[in-house]
Amino acid sequence: MVTAREFIAGRHLNCIDGHWVPAASGTTIEVLDPSTGGRLAEVPASDATDVAAAVAAARRAFRDRRWLGLSPSQRERVLLRVAELIDRDAATLAEIDVIDNGMALQTAGRAAPMLAARHFRYYAGWINKLAGKTIPADAPPRGGGEQLVYTLREPVGVAALITPWNAPLVMAALKLAPALAAGCSCILKPAELAPLSAGWLLRLLHEAGVPEGVVNLVHGTGEAAGAALTAHPDVDKVAFTGSTEVGKLIVRAAAGNLKKVTLELGGKSPMIVMPDADLERAGTGLGMAAFFMSGQNCMCGSRLFVHEKVFDRVLEGVARVANAIRVGPGLAPETQIGPLISARQRERVHGYVRSGVAEGGTVLAGGEPIEGPGFFYRPTLFASTRPDLTILREEIFGPVTCAQRFSSDDLDAIAELANDTTYGLAASIWTRDLVTAHKLAQRIRAGLVSINNHGIPDVTAPIGGYRQSGWGREFGAEGLEPYLETKTVAVALW
Ligand code: NAD
Repeated sequence: MVTAREFIAGRHLNCIDGHWVPAASGTTIEVLDPSTGGRLAEVPASDATDVAAAVAAARRAFRDRRWLGLSPSQRERVLLRVAELIDRDAATLAEIDVIDNGMALQTAGRAAPMLAARHFRYYAGWINKLAGKTIPADAPPRGGGEQLVYTLREPVGVAALITPWNAPLVMAALKLAPALAAGCSCILKPAELAPLSAGWLLRLLHEAGVPEGVVNLVHGTGEAAGAALTAHPDVDKVAFTGSTEVGKLIVRAAAGNLKKVTLELGGKSPMIVMPDADLERAGTGLGMAAFFMSGQNCMCGSRLFVHEKVFDRVLEGVARVANAIRVGPGLAPETQIGPLISARQRERVHGYVRSGVAEGGTVLAGGEPIEGPGFFYRPTLFASTRPDLTILREEIFGPVTCAQRFSSDDLDAIAELANDTTYGLAASIWTRDLVTAHKLAQRIRAGLVSINNHGIPDVTAPIGGYRQSGWGREFGAEGLEPYLETKTVAVALW
């Protein structure tokens, strides 16, 4: 079998209608290793021409029903087989993502193929459960008599799946699995900064029996390939994960033919620590929530609200975690968090840290890049007495969290602090008191509220954003809905 290094060193192409092809322009984009800054590979720099070919292929596949025409149990078997193949190639897939994106093998990297496989298994199980309803219609049909009214669940059509770089394999899987379970044809556009595992995954889809042309792969930048996909008049749906800024561009571009749009966007997730919390466990949990994947995860706990009674002890605990975390190249066995994705991202994160200091925040841990090759940054803990720092308002997407003290025991007031953001993706509450936990959970405006934990609970539970964190839900049964239409069939019985 080809090793991860051999695969990465090989040629990376688009896949259109089952054919592996370069961009029509012949141009490429360089992919860098975030752990060294060195060149890893090149992928096609696709533009509107390549996108048009991929959309046409997906449309043909949808029209001739080469996927939907298989029986539900045949399609279920194919998706289960995809999961088995991901398991088979898990070590290689993990290594590709670790090298390409920088995530630590021992934490995020090893878990990624397991999670990806789980999405295919979970959504495979939905295929034969996508039932419509019979409707007890009251009105008689025109001309009299009785009528039978029922609904069908049908795929929305051709879906463009646009993913970010922070968890490349998982992001592709969590969109492809429900899209295929619903019966859609797809074009996957991975992020140009970490695009490599997508090619391996596509080969596994074909090996498992997904007919060629049903899933097409188009590499390229957001400005060229992504924008062409979202503007294309024959794309029925866009499923996007990425920044709020680009999410807004996508909404505008999708308006041309009123594509269905789901958006999983940024966050500024609060973590609330009540005085009765188990501080031993909370310290590690909060630290991991803030710094896991170098903070390059959308649910990153980037605002820490701590009751004054336990403020110093909690901050000591989180600072201890920040200082103890082993930052290094993703493949090194001792590494717990890897580098940031790019030099630009590291500069951006450091710019935020500098602004935090300039605006009066106090650095309690980290606060600077790590010298040497690669784009490493120290886990950083701030404390602030002011709620208006830029680092408390804007998504940093780096290993930076900022703590604030509160003294109130009034849950409405505490929730107000947490809700003082334009985002609403995730939140966590740390307490031993059930009543406090559930009352606060109800008051927080976010798509996911965790208690004594932080982040995605399971494939089976929906996640998504309130406010500017997005539209729609992914994961769970709700995650299928954006890929489905409901058709009512009315039969006059006379
Ligand atoms: P990004 O928005 O820059 O890019 C995401 C994807 O969109 C990439 O594939 C990119 O090429 C493409 N893109 C860029 N411009 C485009 C355009 N004009 N039209 C169409 N496509 C375009 O985001 P990123 O930097 O890759 O990822 C980080 C962001 O993603 C963060 O804001 C983070 O919070 C968010 N994110 C959200 C979730 C979630 O589930 N809510 C999960 C992971 C990441």
